Amino acid sequence: MKGSDDYSKAVSNHYKQLMEYCKINQERLDRELPPPREDLNELLAERGVSRRDFIKWTSVMTSALMLPPMFRPALAKAAENFSRLPIVWLHFAECTGCTEAFLRTSYPNVADILLETISLEYHETVMAAAGHQAEQNLEKAMADFKNKFVCVIEGALPRGLNGQYLRLGPKGKTAIQIAKEVTHKAATTVCIGACACYGNIQAARPNPTDAAGISKVLGISTVNIAGCPPNAVNFVGTLLHYLMFGGMPPLDSIGRPIWAYGQRIHAVCERRAHYDAGEFVEEWGDDGAKRGWCLYKAGCKGPYTFANCGKVRFNDGVSWPVMAGHGCIGCTEPGFWDTMTPLDGTNRRRAI
Ligand code: SF4
Repeated sequence: MKGSDDYSKAVSNHYKQLMEYCKINQERLDRELPPPREDLNELLAERGVSRRDFIKWTSVMTSALMLPPMFRPALAKAAENFSRLPIVWLHFAECTGCTEAFLRTSYPNVADILLETISLEYHETVMAAAGHQAEQNLEKAMADFKNKFVCVIEGALPRGLNGQYLRLGPKGKTAIQIAKEVTHKAATTVCIGACACYGNIQAARPNPTDAAGISKVLGISTVNIAGCPPNAVNFVGTLLHYLMFGGMPPLDSIGRPIWAYGQRIHAVCERRAHYDAGEFVEEWGDDGAKRGWCLYKAGCKGPYTFANCGKVRFNDGVSWPVMAGHGCIGCTEPGFWDTMTPLDGTNRRRAI
């Protein structure tokens, strides 16, 4: 009994200290960050999200971030401060699918509404400026918010021909040059999507442009919100953590936040009981498919893939690929085009 009392006391002291740290950080951010661009409460009311729904959401998000309920008010404050965090969003070798996935939500939940309030100092897809004016905006954002802005990167960096496969802007700088300049002045760098994290399809064999992820090319630590595309909830939760504690959440060995990528898809899949019972979809449209059996024999990569897709789902929690009837393709894992294909059909690896 004494051992368990000591353990409870140690845990409680740990969280008290963490709460103190959170308060100090939020007071510092209150002093340092620009005023809010949006009143979150007004925006939520406009979108039909009640205060009750917002409080429910803060509870879910607090527990998703592996924090006890005492942090809920601090998370609510971080959400209210979301529009104060300056973001510079760079695009390199990619399809813009991550931005599209975040922008085109039909039924916005609180996380999607927070994304709308984000203070985008520079984002090539959504800003009106182009050419020299766009470049001036980028330089101004880097000067005004030096060491305070978060650099978000979507897209891989081609290294071939000294980076000349991808030149951008009126001065024709290489993507590598721009990425170095901006990340050097940022408080932290967050990679959005499999391309920026690990290179994705651009880096798949034979990789003609010698593309790779940001961390590998620049030799810096990045927070990797992996996925093709990733879930908006994982991005929002990671920034909320930053607004609470002034740093990024604990990461796994390849830079992914553990709170979102700490478990295999297979561990919490709703079809798992069928896997354990040996009930598999053998071919598309068969009786097993109609009954919602396990998709492992149809190529599901859930046993090898770390992500929370089955828990948070997509489109306001409506569904996710396995629920819709297609196996996981392993898109949160590095090099999945080379290591996980064919995406349908027989798995090349043994199940866990
Ligand atoms: Fe779910 Fe895929 Fe695992 Fe089957 S193999 S239980 S469908 S994650």
